[in-house]
Amino acid sequence: MNAFDDLYSANAKFAESFGGSDLTGRAARGLAVVTCMDSRIDPLGLLGLQPGDAKILRNAGARVTDDVLRTLVLAVYVLGVNRVLIMPHTDCGMAKVTDAEVHALTRDHGVDTRSLEFHTVPDQSEALKHDLTRIRTTPFLPRDMPVSGGIYDVHTGRLTPSPH
Ligand SMILES: [Zn+2]
Repeated sequence: MNAFDDLYSANAKFAESFGGSDLTGRAARGLAVVTCMDSRIDPLGLLGLQPGDAKILRNAGARVTDDVLRTLVLAVYVLGVNRVLIMPHTDCGMAKVTDAEVHALTRDHGVDTRSLEFHTVPDQSEALKHDLTRIRTTPFLPRDMPVSGGIYDVHTGRLTPSPH
């Protein structure tokens, strides 16, 4: 029994009824979504999207990191993205710890993570404002590109637009 047997066997069933796809790697709805890795979030479902519609970028806390910026540059200039939604969520683990606390937790496991920046979120509204500004002011993306932020409530399923 392999740790991944369940997945490969589920995929075998999936592929049987897949029936091919004419989709390309371009985002059909011109959208990129930056959201958290939280397992309660179904980005396509909650936004009424289908596979092929959008680029979905996920990391801990839905933060706009250097790697997210790198990916957005590719998404915009190569893969048809012309609008970006940043979507953090309620009850996010990243808002419940500090970087120092994570370093302490990993130290208990004998691991030194001090060279990593976790981008934990002491104030979710401020973090979202910061991340929106980062996309809006980067020299690498179009200045007139629509960028929006919304907080997804994992308990009600509702997405509330940010005033920023
Ligand atoms: Zn989260």
